[in-house]
Amino acid sequence: MKWDLSNKNNFIQKCFLHYNLVFAVRVFVCTTSKVGNYMEEKNIAESNIIKEFAIFKETIARLINDDLDSVKQGAYSFVYFDILHFKAINDIFTPIQGDKFLEYMQNSIRQIFPESSLLHRFGSDRFILFTNCNKAEIEKLIKKYLKRIADYKLSYEIVSNIGIYITNRADITVDGMIDRAIIAHSFIKGSYSKKYNFYETSQRMQLLGEQEITGRMAEALASKEFVVYFQPQYDHSNGSLVGAEALVRWIHPKRGLISPNIFIPVFEKNGFITKLDFYVFEETCKFIRQCEEKNVPIVPISINICRNDIYQEGFVESLEKIREKYEVPVRLLRIEITEYAVVDGIKKVNEIISELHSCGYIVEMDDFGSAYSSLNALKDINLDILKLDMKFLSDNGNNQNGAVILSSVVRMAKWLGFPVIAEGVEQKKQADYLLSIGCSYIQGYYYAKPMPADDFEIVLASTKQSCTKPSMFVINSMKAGNFWNPDSLETLIFSNYVGGAAILDYKKGNVEVLRVNRKYIQEIGQSLTEQNVLQTEMMSLLDEENKQKYIDMLERAISSEEEECETWRLYDKNKKPLCIRSTVRLIGKSVDSYLFYTMIRNVTTEKEVLQEMLHREKVFRATAEQLKLFYWEYDIKTKKMYPCVRCMQELHFPPVLENYPSSAIERGVFPMDIADFYEEVHKRLEKGEPYIEIDIPLTEKREMYRLRYTTEFDKYGNPVKAYGSAIKI
Ligand code: C2E
Ligand code: CA
Ligand code: CA
Repeated sequence: MKWDLSNKNNFIQKCFLHYNLVFAVRVFVCTTSKVGNYMEEKNIAESNIIKEFAIFKETIARLINDDLDSVKQGAYSFVYFDILHFKAINDIFTPIQGDKFLEYMQNSIRQIFPESSLLHRFGSDRFILFTNCNKAEIEKLIKKYLKRIADYKLSYEIVSNIGIYITNRADITVDGMIDRAIIAHSFIKGSYSKKYNFYETSQRMQLLGEQEITGRMAEALASKEFVVYFQPQYDHSNGSLVGAEALVRWIHPKRGLISPNIFIPVFEKNGFITKLDFYVFEETCKFIRQCEEKNVPIVPISINICRNDIYQEGFVESLEKIREKYEVPVRLLRIEITEYAVVDGIKKVNEIISELHSCGYIVEMDDFGSAYSSLNALKDINLDILKLDMKFLSDNGNNQNGAVILSSVVRMAKWLGFPVIAEGVEQKKQADYLLSIGCSYIQGYYYAKPMPADDFEIVLASTKQSCTKPSMFVINSMKAGNFWNPDSLETLIFSNYVGGAAILDYKKGNVEVLRVNRKYIQEIGQSLTEQNVLQTEMMSLLDEENKQKYIDMLERAISSEEEECETWRLYDKNKKPLCIRSTVRLIGKSVDSYLFYTMIRNVTTEKEVLQEMLHREKVFRATAEQLKLFYWEYDIKTKKMYPCVRCMQELHFPPVLENYPSSAIERGVFPMDIADFYEEVHKRLEKGEPYIEIDIPLTEKREMYRLRYTTEFDKYGNPVKAYGSAIKI
């Protein structure tokens, strides 16, 4: 929907809209002399604008509906423009100059933003643009537009303020989206320095009446407007209930149910949160008490505490008083601390955690991944459980990268000894994926939304329950945890001083590669990347025989120090399989899985050379059979002789003949008169003669044979072996 500024009537009609009556009247006055018709024209104009705005929104709604995925991915923007103190332009200069400027402004928008964009004028100097631009694109165009406005020749600095909402959800109405652009605008309205602003959720919350929230909070607490909901947590491997989280709701008498995302930040700012957290704790204790009295089986319930609580004098003591009042066993309560709080002050958090631990509480780190503290920081904090929120992972772990990150975080956490509860799980495929990477504890809409106590009681009474199990114990001197510490000696060694190395997770015949070093990738070659290796199910590279061989090695390594084997793997179907020699060593163990450190070497070339030799040997053997050729290997030091098959068959030699050649002479292979001569030949070999060729009669039949010896030397030049052959002549 486009409207044309050259159509003057249309332009005038737009000018009537909304508040800027002064300006509207002026434009009207200077374009028509029929003042008496003013009221009537105004009404028509307003109703036209309302209609146009409705069409504008409908058109957008249709476009959005046809392209929901792009909407979610931020492909569209709503841009709200106005001019700082536009009224002043009209007052200081003339309305005609005002008109001219507005025309310039509108043309600028039209020329700079894509032609397909939809533009609507709210009235006077306020425009809303809907355009198919993402954040980076829009920012570029906005800068261009601002420059164009600044270039406008008027002896007055004209500044345009802009609010932008980049679409990120498809479940908001077009009105809601336009609102958001206006909210973003309201944060910089009147600013000469910050001319444009992107919408953020926090801005909306701020606008939703902090004042009102603060004004009513004490009364609301007293009149029990805060209600505790419970969201169950499940073990996805068997569907049993393992716990729940207490989440507060504000049931406002006028506004209905208010999300904690709106009031908690306000309470955190004004300090009321601690009162509320104690209230939630007490309500939860009451609930558990009631369940116990009604014989409803209960699971541990997690309570959220925030940064402010931690700094309260006697915080843990106060919790304990409440708990004791309701006689709730401590194992039924867990405390959640957010990663933000932890990152903020590790020392204080650790003090509180030790106090909580000494009373018997289990402590969870909430929103792990949100503050991007490294897993490394975790080793300094005495936590028991990690809560990983799917929303902090790109694309909910649906895309490849997200999945890789998720999987390594889960495994690393497990390796460090933390059970993980995944939060925000909405789809079965997410839950299944999490289970496949070893995270079976799930909290999310897929299983259940937070629910009132009565509903939760029904869930408790009707669902099988189990408890969260301990995770991995790191078992020996390798300091497994240090592999994730970028500064540790282990990492230094892993990354730089060893050959191809990897960390593996082994569970009932399944092997997952958790981490590989650079040399591992180089060793395999075939232009694979680290991601390729981590994403590939290792066992899928091996055929049945090699798989069994590898698993057998791992099983052996569980009880021994170190094991080794060679397996052929097909990394790339278009390339040759590779032979990998692996040495494995157990470094961690949990109830059902094992952690191995492995060193690998690509021995494909060696193997190929060996195979080639074996092949030649076979060919040679076959030829020898036809040629009536005898051949053997003689070990000069041990005097052992290894005969060929023909020697064994025709001369009845054992596979190894000790004390050669005396033992053969005794067998009568050599006629007595040449026995001494033959012993002499062997003495020459011992002395290091490289090649000997003689013709001698052999066997009782005294058939003439040409006998040849080729000597092999060690690196010091000492003779070690001689290869002998005898061919009938
Ligand atoms: P939180 O502690 O991370 O709680 C989890 C939030 O994720 C809850 O939002 C829950 O309803 C929501 N959630 C659970 N499963 C799913 C899912 O599958 N999909 C999606 N999209 N969301 C899911 P809620 O209840 O709105 O609470 C928001 C935050 O408010 C909480 O985040 C917590 O930080 C805070 N909060 C709630 N109750 C309390 C409380 O009693 N004390 C304190 N200090 N903070 C609280
Ligand atoms: Ca929480
Ligand atoms: Ca959380």
